[in-house]
Amino acid sequence: MMPIATINPATGETLKTFTPLTDGELEAKLAKAKTAFEAHRRTSFAQRAQWMNAAADILEARKGEFAAIMTVEMGKTLKSAVAEVEKCALVCRYYAEKAPEFLADVPVQTDASTSFVRYQPIGPVLAVMPWNFPFWQVFRFAAPALMAGNVGLLKHASNVPQCALAIEEIFLKAGLPEGAFQTLLVGADKVAQIIADDRVMAATLTGSEPAGASLAANCGKQIKKTVLELGGSDPFIVLESADLEAAVATATTARMINNGQSCIAAKRFIVSEAIADEFERRLVAKFQALKVGDPMQPDTDIGPLATPGILQDIDNQVQACIKTGARVPVGGKPLSDRPGNFYPPTLLTDIPPGASAYNEEFFGPVAMLFRVKDIDAAIQLANSTPFGLGASAWTQVKAEANRLIEEIEAGAVFINGMVKSDPRLPFGGIKRSGYGRELSSQGIHEFVNIKTVWVK
Ligand code: NAP
Repeated sequence: MMPIATINPATGETLKTFTPLTDGELEAKLAKAKTAFEAHRRTSFAQRAQWMNAAADILEARKGEFAAIMTVEMGKTLKSAVAEVEKCALVCRYYAEKAPEFLADVPVQTDASTSFVRYQPIGPVLAVMPWNFPFWQVFRFAAPALMAGNVGLLKHASNVPQCALAIEEIFLKAGLPEGAFQTLLVGADKVAQIIADDRVMAATLTGSEPAGASLAANCGKQIKKTVLELGGSDPFIVLESADLEAAVATATTARMINNGQSCIAAKRFIVSEAIADEFERRLVAKFQALKVGDPMQPDTDIGPLATPGILQDIDNQVQACIKTGARVPVGGKPLSDRPGNFYPPTLLTDIPPGASAYNEEFFGPVAMLFRVKDIDAAIQLANSTPFGLGASAWTQVKAEANRLIEEIEAGAVFINGMVKSDPRLPFGGIKRSGYGRELSSQGIHEFVNIKTVWVK
């Protein structure tokens, strides 16, 4: 099991370790969550919105401080961490404003004198969260959950405990009552026990497939609702008519964002044969121009991977792919000239059909390039993985865009743009990328009782 600790991925240095909660401490927190819910469910939207906007104010006022915690714990560049904190403030303000509208009674005409749908909070919700966007993943769960009148219990990834504690502090300082949002410093081995507790009403997990499957199985035994946001191997399709310069620039960002560790990163580049050589040349040039190094420095593009295990995994995947006969025009092995978990931007191409890379998620700065003869082959290849999170497709032909929108198996399709999350748009996947949605109106409806009311 992973220790709960801050280990700087740029140096390998252990900066701080934490003792997991005892069963007694955990019990006290669950009891507090239940008590807090009884009060929180009765608060007005106006009151909740005031707390949520106060949380946004704190995030904005202290963004440099929170960003530095993220960078030290998981290695993202400081500038991207600052942007992440700002996005968290945005989602707080978004739900502060929109929750009353999303959760208003919905009148329905029936044989009753009055009938309507009312959305009510369900209670304490457990959120099991990953380290890759250690603030954003939590806020995109917490803002709608708290605005709906639920209370939150956070089991964050073991390598980002200081992020987890900072988030709890933000909500407390914002004025939310004690117990409305609590961080549980526990390992993954405690999750089943927490789910089995009668006071916990539902759970959401963002992370890997095995973790999601385990959480959902445990919730299934208890008849508790789940939302799962799991892995992806998003296609990035570039057809012949595409604006190549824009596609290559976006392709680089879409793969390298967060040091390559994003669920919705573009991972498989599926390019029309007619333009593939040019696309490859330009992509290699862009990859070579990226600066790998200290994530605290403003001119760094790519920091270290979050843990030595992730570095090892990505290296194993790349070496296995090379063994099948793939070509590596750039990158291909860990940077061994320094401490820390550094891996260079890497491109794999000419991957033989049948190689396991076709079905795997590469969670690091490694792109795969596939050449296809036409749009039919592009769609077929795009859909040929177990995943279905996002997809980006580039074309200037309207009919092609329409086919891609209709036929790509994914929770999101972005035409001529990069897949990204936005509070105004629902976010989530299909197939083994999970189920349920976060953000937008759909997200806030995941953890509410949809109560039917009929009055004679
Ligand atoms: P992970 O190992 O699954 O960890 C995620 C969280 O789950 C952590 O809090 C972890 O706790 C916990 N966990 C691990 N095993 C568990 C189990 N058996 N039961 C209950 N909880 C468990 O994920 P990761 O590998 O760090 O994260 C990367 C993955 O997340 C990638 O596949 C990525 O695509 C996916 N992801 C998806 C989204 C999305 O929105 N779809 C967003 C971001 C990331 P410990 O840290 O204590 O082990």
